[in-house]
Amino acid sequence: MQTSRLLKRLRNDFQLSIITLMGLFGVLAISPYAIYRLAEGNYLVSIADTIIVLSTVFAVLYAWRTGDTVKPGLYLAAIFSVGSTLIAINLGVNGLFWIYPLILFNFFMVSPGKAAVATLLILTALVSHALIVPGSVFESTYQMISFLVTSMMASLLTCIFAYRTRSQRDQLQTLAIQDPLTGARNRRAMNEELKIAMSTHRRHGNNYGVLVMDLDHFKLINDKFGHQAGDQVLVAFVSLIKQASRKEDRLFRFGGEEFLLLLPNTDRAGLQAAAAHLQRQVGQNLKGPGGPVTVSMGGAILRPGEHWESWLQRADQHLYQAKSAGRNCTLIDETPIPASNSPVN
Ligand code: GH3
Ligand code: MG
Ligand code: MG
Repeated sequence: MQTSRLLKRLRNDFQLSIITLMGLFGVLAISPYAIYRLAEGNYLVSIADTIIVLSTVFAVLYAWRTGDTVKPGLYLAAIFSVGSTLIAINLGVNGLFWIYPLILFNFFMVSPGKAAVATLLILTALVSHALIVPGSVFESTYQMISFLVTSMMASLLTCIFAYRTRSQRDQLQTLAIQDPLTGARNRRAMNEELKIAMSTHRRHGNNYGVLVMDLDHFKLINDKFGHQAGDQVLVAFVSLIKQASRKEDRLFRFGGEEFLLLLPNTDRAGLQAAAAHLQRQVGQNLKGPGGPVTVSMGGAILRPGEHWESWLQRADQHLYQAKSAGRNCTLIDETPIPASNSPVN
């Protein structure tokens, strides 16, 4: 059970899995060197290796405990860069081989811009040292130039690759949670956010409200003016609701012309006020090809210990009642909320 949870975290969090993999690799690959250099009497390199190994373990544990992968990534990139530079200065050409994997490593740990800056700093440090103490890092000027050209080429190619991967990942993430027509979040995102709301409410007692919205007589617009006209009304509806709601409210499209607005830190009075405001805004400003378009809404406040599906169902039932009551109105669940609202750990 525990193992499968750990594996799931590794699968879902790319950055955490990279930090863990690099951490393991770093410890396994560098520990023998720390012992070897110690036996050899090269204490400076042995200490640098040991610091790298211990920092790696620390950073990996920190990432697992806190879920923050940015700080450990920066920390590891900095420690590995300084350590490898010191080792290269100390060992000369035998240490220089480590700079190539280090360049790749940095691009996995931090943003492409930061990794490129790290490469430049490392190369500057190595060349400066070689110029101040001739023969200390490189065996000849020719070797230094070859090293500079090849390491910069490795850095440039990795930078391009890392940049592309990053932007494709961002695009994929957006596509996975967004409805392509309206730009509202999709049903998948909705399920996730409702689950998060449920656990935040359990842990910290925050209030959450939802409004389920359904456009009135929408089928008529499609039938009379075509599907495209219907689509335009959906787009206009989403932009209107986004404008008229608070920044922290989240709008989801979970069916054809059915939407859900999640309102954090909202009690019943707040939900009622928000619904009245949105209802008015839509009534006054949403124009279809055949005239004004209205919306019906059902609302509910999350109850202590309630599952999100039942919360959604209560809001949905009230939407249904609002439709039966003649449309263009909002009904909010008025059932009293039990008093046991204290946070549960
Ligand atoms: P009510 O007031 O009872 O909600 O009536 P209605 O006509 O809005 O209700 P119904 O659920 O019967 O109609 C929903 C319509 O929404 C049917 C479907 O053709 C249309 N629809 C669903 N998805 C889309 C879409 O992406 N674009 C467009 N243009 N229409 C859609
Ligand atoms: Mg409808
Ligand atoms: Mg409908």
